[in-house]
Amino acid sequence: MRIDILTLFPEMFPGPLGSSIDGRALRSGLVELNTVNYRDFAGDERGTVDERPYGGGPGMLMLPEVFTAAVEKVKTPGAVVVLTSPRGEVLSQALAAELASCGHLIIAAGHYEGVDERAVEEVVDREVSIGDYVLSNGNLAAMVIADTVIRLLPGALGDSESAEQDSFGDGLLEFPQYTRPPVFRGRAVPEILLSGDHGKIREYRRGLSEALTRERRPDVWEKFLTNEGIK
Ligand code: SAH
Repeated sequence: MRIDILTLFPEMFPGPLGSSIDGRALRSGLVELNTVNYRDFAGDERGTVDERPYGGGPGMLMLPEVFTAAVEKVKTPGAVVVLTSPRGEVLSQALAAELASCGHLIIAAGHYEGVDERAVEEVVDREVSIGDYVLSNGNLAAMVIADTVIRLLPGALGDSESAEQDSFGDGLLEFPQYTRPPVFRGRAVPEILLSGDHGKIREYRRGLSEALTRERRPDVWEKFLTNEGIK
C-alpha cells in the first residue's frame, strides 16, 4: 500500500508512525509513506499558500490552486483522497478497514481555518474527522487515520497480535483481560480463565463484551444489534 500525506509540516512525519507496529510495516515495505509539502505548490516567490476568506471571518484558508496542485501531483488512478476535517464523517473501525483496502491513500491535512470549498469539491473523495473536538491542524488526525489503516494491513500485526479480537473488530468492545499473577492485591483472576475450557471461556468473554458495550457505549450496542439483525 502507498500512503501520501499532504502537509505544511513534513518534518512531523513519520514521527510516531516510525515506531512500533507502524514502523515495522514501513521498514518491511508493507506500506510506503511519503509526505508532500503544500508549500512546494505555492504560486509565488514568497510561498503563499493561504488567503483571507471572502465574506469575512477569522483566520485564513488554503488557496484552491495550491491544494489541488498538491493532490493532483501524487494522485494515481484509483487513489482515495481523504481530507482531515471536523466536518467529516467520524473515523470508525469500519471506515479504517475500507481505507485499508485501497491501494493508494492520500491524506490531506487541513491547516488554518480549512480549505477553499471549491478545491474540496474538485479533488477530495471523503472528509474524515477523528472526533468531535477541534485540533490545531490536520497532522495529528492524518497520523491517527494512517495508524488505524496500517495496523489493519495483512501482515502488519504479528501472530500474537490480532486485530479480530480488538474492540470494534466484531462490533463490540473488548472484554477485560488478565495476566500473571493469579492474585494481585487480593484480586483474583476470574476462575473460568484458568479452567482451560476454551468453549466456556469464549462464551464468558462474549458475555462480558456484550455487557460492557451495552453499558458504556449504547450507540455502539445499537449498531451491533442492527448489524446482527436483532433489531
Ligand atoms: N474552522 C474549522 C476548524 C479548523 S481546525 C471548523 O470549525 O471546522 C484546522 C484544521 O485542523 C482543519 O482544517 C482540519 O484539517 C484539522 N482538524 C481539526 N479538528 C479535526 C478533527 N476533529 N478531525 C480531523 N481533522 C481536524
